[in-house]
Amino acid sequence: MHDTLPAEMHLWHTLEDTVRGVFSSYGFEEIRIPVVEKSEVFARAIGNATDVVEKEMYSFEDRNGEMLSLRPEGTAGVVRAVLQNNLLYAAPLRLWYMGPMFRRERPQKGRTRQFQQVGAEVFGAAGPDIDAELQVICQRIWQALGLNGLRLEVNSLGTSQERARYRHDLHAFLSAHKDALDADSLRRLDRNPLRILDSKNSEVQKLLQDAPVLTDYLAEESRNYFAGFRALLDSYGIAYHVNPRLVRGLDYYCHAVFEWISDDLGAQGTVCAGGRYDGLVEIQGGRPWPGVGFAMGQERLIELMRTQAEPVREAPQVYLIMAGEGTTERGLKLAEMLRDDIPGLKIQSNLGGGSFKSQFKRADRSGATLALVLGEDELKMGHATVKHLRDETGQEQVAIDDLVSWLSEWLNS
Ligand code: ATP
Ligand code: MG
Repeated sequence: MHDTLPAEMHLWHTLEDTVRGVFSSYGFEEIRIPVVEKSEVFARAIGNATDVVEKEMYSFEDRNGEMLSLRPEGTAGVVRAVLQNNLLYAAPLRLWYMGPMFRRERPQKGRTRQFQQVGAEVFGAAGPDIDAELQVICQRIWQALGLNGLRLEVNSLGTSQERARYRHDLHAFLSAHKDALDADSLRRLDRNPLRILDSKNSEVQKLLQDAPVLTDYLAEESRNYFAGFRALLDSYGIAYHVNPRLVRGLDYYCHAVFEWISDDLGAQGTVCAGGRYDGLVEIQGGRPWPGVGFAMGQERLIELMRTQAEPVREAPQVYLIMAGEGTTERGLKLAEMLRDDIPGLKIQSNLGGGSFKSQFKRADRSGATLALVLGEDELKMGHATVKHLRDETGQEQVAIDDLVSWLSEWLNS
């Protein structure tokens, strides 16, 4: 679990502001749900035989004996909240969320035990138009963040009946080739053989080249659904690759599933993953509402922004230096007035006193572009000295009464 330090906070803010703006432009509403839920909320939704529930959840017994878990993902809790608060009366419902998730997995590059996800969940829309719109939303977010090289992989998981028949045949095939399976795959063989499809082991991947393919098990309705999804992606001009081995780690998916992947992140290159989960609301105790959604890993996006996007810094624009009799009182009031009158102005006041010299040092370290200096002489004359800290423009005197218009003009130049 990592700290997010002030120096990288501007990246987080840019990401958060961007997704907030894009979601709202598509009519999505934000939902915030607790970090802790009853363990059964996740066990039921995600499935007991998944890695997440089997070995990655942080669970503990409450004082009254109830089992609780830190949320490993957002979808199960959002479904719980939607049902509990009767939000489906307004279906179709388009929701998004953002927040920390917890999974006890082996820490490695791009994989931590606390991480942030941005997610979208849509209930009551049968698709495939909404499934395609989710990809447009993703693409718009990548563009707004200045990210390049993200590719979309899609697959169809069909219905649970189709998957059951496939699972049976895949299990038979893999059981006949047990000697080529690693320990991880052997563990999954009986409980969740589809998960073996996205094994990272090259021996296993070689074996899978001859394994039965899920696509061959889809009946006409599922094939039409998937064709409709792909046709919409084409008409939006979104490039994609059909990966027949793309399965999702969670049990609840059906029909269209997808991942957005970057090759610039090493082994953990998936920045967004999701799909359709038509059975999930029913599993959680509601009527069978269709559902579809995705989750983005924010740390992985931040990593891409760090390397690909233009750097910006959230330093103050103005550092207020005050030295001499009466200057602090006058200066702090002035700063409040400037914040009132110039929306968005970032001004940091020097607190704790100090000589001009030491205050200028702090101004420099703050990253501010402009120092606003108020000494006893300035107070007497009714002006402030503005000094440009990052270039050779030098300094000038500005009447205190003119500061609002001077600073506004400077900000816009
Ligand atoms: P994987 O097969 O890589 O374990 P997953 O199926 O567990 O993926 P999801 O549950 O779909 O992943 O999560 C969606 C996204 O959240 C991932 O694509 C990734 O970007 C991010 N994510 C998931 N787990 C972690 C983690 N432990 N650390 C950082 N980001 C994560
Ligand atoms: Mg995982």
